Amino acid sequence: MKAEIPEGITLIRNGLFDNGDYGATYLIGYDRLALVDPGTSYSVPTLLEWFDEHPRSLSNLKYILLTHIHLDHAGAVGHLVEKLPDLKIYLHRKGAPHMHDPSQLLASVREATGDRFSEYGEVKPIPEENLEPVDGEKTFSLDSKEIVALPTPGHAPHHLAYYDKETGGLFPGDSAGLYLGGRLIPSTPPPTFNLETSLDSLTRMKELDPSILLYPHFGPGENPSELIDDYKRILQDWVELVDELRSQYGEEDKLVTEIIEIKRDWIRNGFSVGELKMNIRGVLKYFSWREDDQK
Ligand SMILES: [Zn+2]
Repeated sequence: MKAEIPEGITLIRNGLFDNGDYGATYLIGYDRLALVDPGTSYSVPTLLEWFDEHPRSLSNLKYILLTHIHLDHAGAVGHLVEKLPDLKIYLHRKGAPHMHDPSQLLASVREATGDRFSEYGEVKPIPEENLEPVDGEKTFSLDSKEIVALPTPGHAPHHLAYYDKETGGLFPGDSAGLYLGGRLIPSTPPPTFNLETSLDSLTRMKELDPSILLYPHFGPGENPSELIDDYKRILQDWVELVDELRSQYGEEDKLVTEIIEIKRDWIRNGFSVGELKMNIRGVLKYFSWREDDQK
């Protein structure tokens, strides 16, 4: 059975990384509209075209809900603000300064993505008055809906999930992993992936008892508690695998080659070898700062 997206929520394929099945932006509402995670700057023409072709007016777009500021979710925002100067952008307090002045964010993305940096598009700084930083759990009204913003650190420390109280739909961003072609795949990018906070965030999301998970990568997932439990296990197994193999293969290049071989079946629906490499580096980075902490 295919999971149904709740009333008042629409999935828009944003064409992330030139793949129709990798980036989902969600439109919420009928009157005053909100977009969750609009994608990179390359998604902007796709989104504008969507508004042209559907009976919703771009001028009614009032809010952006960012789960986090990684550019495959947030790169489009500055471009949209240029078109709609009154847009309000909800995001975690820790992410806000980097959307206003993206220089540090760009340096971090460049380091994390290496030769794939250009796929993340261009970023435009966002005026402070457009930003609505969220500090801790917060409920706000959107159109006729009440939305809860819930801090869900782990994938990144500045991560939020959004919960639609009316329908029980939960937008977990990347904090519940990737759900590609019916399969859960870990998302553990550098520089700030953290296993412990990820697991705590998953517990908190499960406590909301959502009716459906609305993944940005990609689409609706039914049986949220099962998916969340499965993801906890997959994430722990993944970190353990990297830990085991890093002691076996001293050199990072050999480790990466071996893991790509083992996890070849994860490469699907827009999840590339490059993404897998980034996930490996994220786990290695997590080990390195955890070990530094213990010194
Ligand atoms: Zn991310």
